[in-house]
Amino acid sequence: MSHQPLTHNGAVTFVGAGPGCVDMLTMGAFRALQEADVVIHDRLVGPEILALAKGTLIDAGKEGFGPSTPQSAINALIVGHAGTGARVVRLKGGDCGIFGRLDEEIEALEAAGIQWSILPGLTSAAAAAAAIGQSLTKRGRNRGLRIVTGHDMDGFADQDWKGLARSGEVAAIYMGKKASRFIQGRLMMHGADANTPVTLVENATRPDQRIVAATLGTLSDTATCLTGPAVMLYGLAPRAAAQALPELHEASGLKEVTA
Ligand code: SAH
Repeated sequence: MSHQPLTHNGAVTFVGAGPGCVDMLTMGAFRALQEADVVIHDRLVGPEILALAKGTLIDAGKEGFGPSTPQSAINALIVGHAGTGARVVRLKGGDCGIFGRLDEEIEALEAAGIQWSILPGLTSAAAAAAAIGQSLTKRGRNRGLRIVTGHDMDGFADQDWKGLARSGEVAAIYMGKKASRFIQGRLMMHGADANTPVTLVENATRPDQRIVAATLGTLSDTATCLTGPAVMLYGLAPRAAAQALPELHEASGLKEVTA
């Protein structure tokens, strides 16, 4: 392992914190958290991981602006701290390069002439697939995996519905809770089979992880039961072997529901 510091004075390290459980943090992320003077984190990063930081913690989701801090204010916050010569970690849930507004923050740093680097993290789709005992790709089933969002800045996000409606397709749908009826409608309109499995994994890797097996036909009704962050694995059902271990789920405190 390298002994070079991962954080530098007046520079920003973008760090992916993984899906929640501290065991999913990389060694690099752990070291960066220990070295940083300031850690600016998202709402999604839990207390167990934040407790590993030695420097000042700043919640970018709150910092004086209420629950939805404008991106420009977050950019200013990061630039401001790095500008004082502090070693700054910008900590994001999952991987920082997946639905993490990384580019906006990098552009702000470049405009201010501030150095930056990226330490990737485990994205929630990978953790969700592992939780249901499935592989995100499989020979003979899907040659690719789509990572899509349920909504974007303009509202519900349009996708290549026709392509997704083909049998065997697999997609990890992030931020899909509110858009579930829209997604279901678009896919069925493009000919997707109502029996296509869709598995919802809520709070992946956290003590309150929940796996809900649904189908495209039941997706929107099933999604109403979700309360925490959830990834929808379109085209994947929980593997029977993973379901057949109730004592394991009980022991780990994981709940499994079939809808
Ligand atoms: N950068 C993150 C995604 C941020 S967008 C990543 O790589 O995972 C926020 C969305 O991520 C949530 O709405 C949810 O769809 C998903 N998400 C984040 N953490 C999750 C978790 N522990 N379990 C399930 N989904 C999660």
